[in-house]
Amino acid sequence: MQSLVAAVRCGADAVYFGAGNFNARRNASNFGGDELKKAIDYCHLHSVKCHITLNTLVSDGEMPELIDTLRRICEAGADALIIQDLGVAKLVREICPDIAMHASTQLSTGTPEGIKLLSELGFSRAVLPRELSKAEIEKIAAVSPVELEAFVHGALCMCVSGQCLLSAMLGSRSGNRGLCAQPCRLPFAAKGGTGTDLSLKDLSLIERINELNNIGVCSFKIEGRMKRPEYVAAAVTACRKALDGCYGENDKNELRALFSRSGFTDGYYEAKLGREMFGKREKDDVTSATGELLRKYEKLYEKENAVYPAEFFFSAHIGEKPTLSAKAEGKSVFVEGGNICEQAISRPLDCESVKAQLSKCGGTVFFADSIECDIGENVSVPLSAINALRREALEKLAAEIIYRKPYKLNEYRITKSKAESTDRRKLCIQFSSVEQIPEEIECDRMFLPLDTDADIIKKYSAGVTVPRGLFCNYDTIAKKLENSPAAFALCNTPDALALAKNAGKQVIGGPFMNIFNSVALGEAERLGVSEQVLSYELTTKQIADISGIKTGCVVYGRTPLMLTRNCPVRNGVDCKECKRRSCLTDRKGIYFPVRCENGFSQLYNSVPTYMLDRPGEIRGTSFDMLVFTTETKEEVCEILTAYRLRSAPKGEYTRGLFTRGVE
Ligand SMILES: [Zn+2]
Repeated sequence: MQSLVAAVRCGADAVYFGAGNFNARRNASNFGGDELKKAIDYCHLHSVKCHITLNTLVSDGEMPELIDTLRRICEAGADALIIQDLGVAKLVREICPDIAMHASTQLSTGTPEGIKLLSELGFSRAVLPRELSKAEIEKIAAVSPVELEAFVHGALCMCVSGQCLLSAMLGSRSGNRGLCAQPCRLPFAAKGGTGTDLSLKDLSLIERINELNNIGVCSFKIEGRMKRPEYVAAAVTACRKALDGCYGENDKNELRALFSRSGFTDGYYEAKLGREMFGKREKDDVTSATGELLRKYEKLYEKENAVYPAEFFFSAHIGEKPTLSAKAEGKSVFVEGGNICEQAISRPLDCESVKAQLSKCGGTVFFADSIECDIGENVSVPLSAINALRREALEKLAAEIIYRKPYKLNEYRITKSKAESTDRRKLCIQFSSVEQIPEEIECDRMFLPLDTDADIIKKYSAGVTVPRGLFCNYDTIAKKLENSPAAFALCNTPDALALAKNAGKQVIGGPFMNIFNSVALGEAERLGVSEQVLSYELTTKQIADISGIKTGCVVYGRTPLMLTRNCPVRNGVDCKECKRRSCLTDRKGIYFPVRCENGFSQLYNSVPTYMLDRPGEIRGTSFDMLVFTTETKEEVCEILTAYRLRSAPKGEYTRGLFTRGVE
């Protein structure tokens, strides 16, 4: 609450925060129970909007609680919801059609086509990925049917938001469920790199706010829900100053002193990637916030700001009750004293003493702008009664300003229709290169890289994998898709889905579409997905619960832990190695392969996930997916044999999240 007050008093136009368990900072102290309503009322009293984060993936079992939380947020009068899960978006449209929906940056959508798709889903605003360059934002803004919001200050994730499984796979703490443990800040080292080659400096684009404004971005977002109120005050003040054209070097230095990771970066925006963007929290960063500096910013939000001029009209006549009407912000209220005015014995009431009492608006959002009196002759009213009238009038005015017409809320019941399939599960294989394909291969469906020769695609009647990173090259990818003879395409983001649909492909949803519940699966179907690979983060039990179109899960493969725009390997050597053998090493000396293509890098898990010997534990799916990443052709053959024979794993492996799941 203190941080929220700091944001409001320092001039934010909107604040965003979580309510309960479904938000991307579950470790922050969020707003539960009455606090939520109080926080929203406080913001509305200051004409500040409240965007509530409901931006995590939600399982079928959690849906009743999610619906309760959603209703509570809507009843409290929030102005918008920030959403990641397509199922949650669907529920919001059904239950509270009038509340605005903002697409979280967790939806990993950063192309004009993808943003259009979000608009079709009912989103009125998109929070852009932090990885976009100025030119890319311009391209989107030129055609976007929705409002655009961009991060201008705060932490940068190494991985494109919504595509990260590092914390989930290493410790079951899911970034997609608001519990990222930030393992990326630990030493993951590239050869000759910085030693912490997954840790980026914090972003700062505050100097570019007016430029972003001119491009067509309407909202500038500060990250920092887990930071101290003084930091919030400083960051909001800095943005305000920038909008007024008076943000200077000193402001920037103070911001840096309050929190940074060896300074700030604008590398993505400037399209200047590389080692300069990396940084971690050094000793100097920790000690730089002096008591004096903290005190300076604390002062900015200590006291309530009197922002609304109020007009008072006071009236008192013998034999009548004293009355006070007050006007502010286009609202007017009228209050009446409890006792009838009597004749004065010694000193009759005069206008000056009324004015003195009505001017005491301290601690409220009002100040007395004009005071008029209509006082009869020889009237007596105790000053305490005038004070009481003022207090009551201002409280009523505040309530009028806070008031919002309640949202209409609909009942919604989740219905499930599960047609249990008894058919043999089909086999679906994704290859990273054609060299991996064995001479003799039997499978029901194959996905090959988009760049694969047309003849090979035709030979295997294969589908193509649309790359996950599309921000910089989507028009090239769109052309390749149109020219590809493949009938179907594996799509992992709304961006990819939009391109595949435009190219007339049958769409198979990939695991990074983050389909985590049956409602989301229904939405995927509505978007044109015919079959869906479920999220890597589901347990076998959760998988069995999901109903809808045909689904499958990845039962073998090195899980991609990160999709990054900044190749970590390039911090040491050049990126040529990343075709075949680049890797990062963690503190224990474990290797994590890195592969780069199309301007994006993927960091893979050190060991493959292996469920080939336990097929009976996965229930309710129609196909098994094997994903080959770093394997040679010989290794592929071994795995295919193991799949047929249900053999136990030979080398090191993990069961992924099938049994332990994520928090
Ligand atoms: Zn690379």
